[in-house]
Amino acid sequence: MVKKTQKWLVVGNWKMNPVSSKIASATFSSIKKVANKTRNTETVICPPFIYLEKLKTSGHRIVLGSQDLFPEAEGSFTGNVSYLQLKNLGVIYSIVGHSEKRREGETNEDVNKKVKASLRGMITPIICVGESTRDEKGEFLGSIKEQLLSSLSGLPKTSIKDIVIAYEPLWAIGASAKREPLVKEIFEVSIFIKKVLSDIYDTKSVPPTKILYGGSVDEKNIESILKSGGVDGVLVGRASLDPKKFTEIIKKADLLKR
Ligand code: PEP
Repeated sequence: MVKKTQKWLVVGNWKMNPVSSKIASATFSSIKKVANKTRNTETVICPPFIYLEKLKTSGHRIVLGSQDLFPEAEGSFTGNVSYLQLKNLGVIYSIVGHSEKRREGETNEDVNKKVKASLRGMITPIICVGESTRDEKGEFLGSIKEQLLSSLSGLPKTSIKDIVIAYEPLWAIGASAKREPLVKEIFEVSIFIKKVLSDIYDTKSVPPTKILYGGSVDEKNIESILKSGGVDGVLVGRASLDPKKFTEIIKKADLLKR
């Protein structure tokens, strides 16, 4: 399990990109050069499964994550990759419950199983939660709470420090994003998530869980999100595929005080 530090956590989710391992290696090595020079930032790259072996890295400022995992160790599960296989490959983090997996039918219960398997494998789960639409009255917060409660159901109190929550409003993700959220909106939800976590785990103090924001993060908005969004880092989709943009995000994060 990764020792939690006060570093910013910058995670790149490459999704089903790029199309060749040659491009993956070139992109990764450009990012690694910059990430290795950081002092206040931990960079995580989540490439497709097929590139993990090739991108294995000994750097401690840049590590690998997976985009998903299968919650059984081994067996007859065609097409899946187990948490144990990922752990044995040196994977440190795994995205769990991404909205694109939920869109394919993944339920909160599935996410809960994956979170538990991830922790069994000493892989830090990055649990994605977020509303599909917003409403004036703030009822969308109910769906975020529901996602948190069910994803974390049955986890011991000690796990609170071993998980990461990524707030990803669906309307702000990807090329079809409606708009970027206001930093104030990110801040409000990050406070809400911390409150729900304190209630679940019955803590009086602020829970040590890292909270990320994801959705249209780029080199232009990174500073304001980290300065005023109340989060510990970001989950980046599109901009993580462009080494120029992503290294700019890493550099800007690293210059900001935590
Ligand atoms: C995502 O899909 O997790 C994401 C954050 O994508 P983008 O940065 O492209 O909005």
